[in-house]
Amino acid sequence: MELITEYLALVIIVILTMFFYEKKSIPASWFSLYRWCLALPALSILVDIICVVLMDVEEVPHWLNMLLNSSYFLLSVLTCSVMALFLFGKILEHVYDKHCMDRAKNVVMILTGIFLIILVTNFYTKWLFWFDQQGHYHRGILNHAGYYVMLAEGFFILLCYHKNRSSVGNMVSRALKMTVGVTFFLAVIQMMFPNIMLNGTLMAYADMIFFIHFQSQRVGFDTLTGLGNRKRFLDELSLRLNSGQQFQIVLVSLRNMDAVNKKYGSKCGDELLYSVGASLDNLDNEVNAFRFGNVTFAVFCPYWTEEQADKNVKQIRDRMEGLWQIGNFSAHVSFRWGNLIHRNEPWQPAEVTEFLEYMLWYMKTEKIKSIDFNEETEYRVRYRNELIHLVRNAVEEGRFTVWFQPVYDLGTCGFSSAEALVRLWDRKYGMISPGEFIPLAEDIGLVEDINWIVLDKVCRFWKENPELPLHSISVNMSMPQLLDENFPQKVEDLLDKYGISREKIRLEMTERVTLSDGAYVKEMMKKLADKGVFFYLDDFGIGYSNFTSALQLPYECIKLDKSLMDSLEANEQNFRIVRTVTDVFHDIGCQVIAEGIETEQQADMAAKMGMDKIQGFYFAKPMPGEKLVDFLKEPADRNMDQPVQPHMQ
Ligand code: C2E
Ligand code: MG
Ligand code: MG
Repeated sequence: MELITEYLALVIIVILTMFFYEKKSIPASWFSLYRWCLALPALSILVDIICVVLMDVEEVPHWLNMLLNSSYFLLSVLTCSVMALFLFGKILEHVYDKHCMDRAKNVVMILTGIFLIILVTNFYTKWLFWFDQQGHYHRGILNHAGYYVMLAEGFFILLCYHKNRSSVGNMVSRALKMTVGVTFFLAVIQMMFPNIMLNGTLMAYADMIFFIHFQSQRVGFDTLTGLGNRKRFLDELSLRLNSGQQFQIVLVSLRNMDAVNKKYGSKCGDELLYSVGASLDNLDNEVNAFRFGNVTFAVFCPYWTEEQADKNVKQIRDRMEGLWQIGNFSAHVSFRWGNLIHRNEPWQPAEVTEFLEYMLWYMKTEKIKSIDFNEETEYRVRYRNELIHLVRNAVEEGRFTVWFQPVYDLGTCGFSSAEALVRLWDRKYGMISPGEFIPLAEDIGLVEDINWIVLDKVCRFWKENPELPLHSISVNMSMPQLLDENFPQKVEDLLDKYGISREKIRLEMTERVTLSDGAYVKEMMKKLADKGVFFYLDDFGIGYSNFTSALQLPYECIKLDKSLMDSLEANEQNFRIVRTVTDVFHDIGCQVIAEGIETEQQADMAAKMGMDKIQGFYFAKPMPGEKLVDFLKEPADRNMDQPVQPHMQ
């Protein structure tokens, strides 16, 4: 018999084994099964070679021939069964229902068991093979029993694939079809030409297909943590959703990783990420962790009951709250977590990712530690998406309106300026507050477009109402706009387009985004200020406003935020602080505007502190342009119980 095919197959398996032991070439969960898929065929080929060689040696005892050939039959069928288990495992990789895998194992065990009975009884029945007195090998009536087992297993594998195909990924599908196709083809050839030894080739091909499958899968793995990356997470999500499975996703997002990297070095930071990823992935056999974002992990767990889901979260939290080894130190790490459960909701994979992204964003902006996804969160995500859609359309069509809020001048006791405030109206949602859509527009990078639309509309309004008895109208701008070197020119071009003189426009800046390049911003502001377009600092006194930049940048005027003004009534000390702040700004030549004044008492206090102007509902609410024109014509109509008299210090 020709043995060359067996030698070649052995070489292929040896090469695969060498690559197999290379670090991380096979995912840990498949490591031990694939090891058997390599070891058993190698053994089986070796035994086959020995059997064939010994057949030509006359003095070999009968019992040794029987034993070796029986071992070969046994090893071949065991190889087949292990490979079948491997394929079942791959098909059911994304199916949480354990019964499926249990059934598959039973099928393999029964078929292997039947074959073992035939093999053991072969010493008497001679159904598989036998040796005559001269030591010649003869095939029995069930000599092909091993192939029948293989075909039966192949049949059940295809059946299992058919039943669960919606949970089988494309790569596995391809590997499976190739394995079954090649196996079937070679098995038929082997049965037709029994003198060519193709068993080893068949097994080597199957091993090769599995190995290539793992290698092509590797692109879906994150190199730092060894976990599935975001793409693989999405694949898994799609498979689980498509097959209608229930699952839970626990998000774990590390905080202050920058600080960890700075304090311990980025190598230790990387090690921490690795340890967190590995320990989340190893919580349980059925739990899979993915690297969802830079410092965020998504842990996939099966969903059985509410109690189990709570337990999963608790287990993850307990682990995260424990001590972590960072370099030579043990430390606690700060983290946020989110919990989402999919029961039977008709969600699409993209929606679930949006939910997860929203949960992360929400925890960050609201500065909260955890979030449970529920119907309300789902509504908020959908509303946010609709809003994004609306804002995008409105930007494309320039479909914003601008309202104006007059600002009362305590020096002249009249309205001397106004602030332009953008408005968005929608048929479904009515008037949407800029407080809602401006932060969103900032997130999606559209706020600058909105600011330009507003500035354009304000210039047009000035052109249409040249006699408006106001000194200027201020327009809200965003700090990052100042980093555009064309910004001053763009502002001037717009003013020139409508023939508006520079002093009629003021630009309000909010420090929602901290700028690293303060010197450059200062230069830009100066460029425009030199031409007569001055800047206000908006919302001074809330979280993100910065005293240094208020003092260093050339602002004409500082607007004290409503929250600061509201705090005045609380105690005497606040009053003194705000008065001192006002004095400091006056000393450096800035005017001060009090924002959000709603009561006479507040207006009185602002005047007492020597503020220059007041903006607030007490004097006037924001109104459309035509109303502003009428409002300024008829002072009697003002929404004021009594005009406020300035109290000059
Ligand atoms: P802001 O620039 O500080 O504008 C003042 C906000 O306070 C306005 O809210 C105004 O209606 C409100 N306000 C004025 N007086 C009172 C008062 O007495 N009581 C209360 N409760 N509120 C008062 P609005 O129009 O909803 O705008 C909210 C924020 O949206 C603005 O705060 C500004 O940051 C942003 N925004 C508005 N228009 C634009 C725009 O065209 N571009 C940009 N980037 N942001 C804008
Ligand atoms: Mg403003
Ligand atoms: Mg403000």
